[in-house]
Amino acid sequence: MQMNSLNRRKDSMSDQDHEARQTFALASMGHVAYHQWAEQARREHRFNIARLFDALSAARLARAGNAFLRLGLVRSTAENVASAFSGAVIGEIGADRITGVTPFARELLARAQRAIGEGRDLRASELGDLFVCATCGEICEGKLDGACQRCGAVPEAHKAFRAIEAMGTLGPHAIMAFLEQTEDALRTLVAGLDDDLLSRRMDDATPSLKELIGHLADMDAIFRQRAWLLLETNRPTLPPAHPPTLESAAAYRDQPIDVVLDAYHATRTQTLNLLRGLTSAAWHREGYHEVYGVINLLHQANWLISHERAHLVEMAQIRHDLIAADRRYNETSVANIVVTGSNEGE
Ligand SMILES: [Zn+2]
Repeated sequence: MQMNSLNRRKDSMSDQDHEARQTFALASMGHVAYHQWAEQARREHRFNIARLFDALSAARLARAGNAFLRLGLVRSTAENVASAFSGAVIGEIGADRITGVTPFARELLARAQRAIGEGRDLRASELGDLFVCATCGEICEGKLDGACQRCGAVPEAHKAFRAIEAMGTLGPHAIMAFLEQTEDALRTLVAGLDDDLLSRRMDDATPSLKELIGHLADMDAIFRQRAWLLLETNRPTLPPAHPPTLESAAAYRDQPIDVVLDAYHATRTQTLNLLRGLTSAAWHREGYHEVYGVINLLHQANWLISHERAHLVEMAQIRHDLIAADRRYNETSVANIVVTGSNEGE
C-alpha cells in the first residue's frame, strides 16, 4: 500500500517534471521567435504588429521562466554559477508548437493576419493596450482589471504594451539627449571620407551615406510639422503618414557633403528650438493618428528616434563596408555613434 502510493507520487512528479521541461523548452523558443518577428515588423514599419509580437514574446518568456522555476533550476547564486559552468541540462523534450499556443494568442494573430492581408499595420482600434502577467504569461487586452485572472499576480507585476508607447518609451530628457547628439554622430560617421565615397552605393539595394543623411533631414522636418500641430492646435488629426521615402532623398547624392550636413543641421536646430523647455503637459499634448489612434508628442518623438537610431546603425555598417572595400582607407574605429543607454521614463 505504502509502496504503491509512493510510486504513484513519483510517477506524477515525473509527469509534472516532463510537462515543465516541455513548457520551458517550447516557450523559450517561442519567446525568441516572437522577438525576432517583432524586430522584423518594426523594420517594415508595422509598429502595432510589432507591439503584438513583443507582448506574445513577453508572455512566452514568463511561461518559460515559470517552468524553469518549477524544475528547481533556480537556486542560490553560488549554485547557479556552478550550474552555468556545467551547462544546465533539461533532458529529452518532444517537438510541438512553440508559438500560437493559446486560443487568445491565435485570436490576436488572426487580427494581424487580416491587417497584413490588406497591406497595412493593425490599427489602434483593432489592438488595444496589452498587459502581460510577468509571472504566468496571461495576456489581458484593454485595461488591467485587478489581479491576474490565472495566477493572482498583482497589476504591478504586469508588463504593459500600450498603443501610445508602440514607438518606444523614452521620456523628454532622454529624447532631447538623443536629438541633440545625432548631428555629432553623423559628422563623426563621415569624417575623413571623401565626397566620392560618401556618394557611393555599395549595391542597388544600399543607399549612399549622403542619401541617408538627407533622408534623416527630410524626416526631421516632417516630425517638426507634426510636433508643431500637436503643440499649437487643439487635438489635431495628423496628416496621413506618407513620410518621405529614402528614394526621394536621391537628390542629396549629387550635393557636397557640407551642403547635406548643413541641411540636417538647419532642420534639427529648428526642431530642438521648438522642443527645448517644454513642460510635461506639453509633451503629453494629444492628437489623432489614423493607425495609432490617440498619440502624443512623446509618441511622435519616439517614432523619430526609433527611425533615426535604425538608420544610424545601418550607416555605421555602410561606413565599415565602404572602408573595407577601398584600399585607400584604414578603418578607424568610430565609437559611441548610437545612443543605446538612454534612460527610459521621464
Ligand atoms: Zn498571472
